Amino acid sequence: MKVQCPTCQKSLEWTPDNKYRPFCSERCKLIDLGEWASEGHAIPGKSVEEEMMSEDWNEQKRWDN
Ligand SMILES: [Zn+2]
Repeated sequence: MKVQCPTCQKSLEWTPDNKYRPFCSERCKLIDLGEWASEGHAIPGKSVEEEMMSEDWNEQKRWDN
């Protein structure tokens, strides 16, 4: 049985030992899951945001005094 890889449209044989089916490869599977594009990308600004929040909190405390 032939299937088409949903990612690269390559036709491949559907076999039980193809653990990436219906994809042709792990790479295509990751692309479809959206993991390929985000791989290695850190989420920027998270710690900065947390710092700003604590700064705001300190600012507020100062105002209270
Ligand atoms: Zn593929």
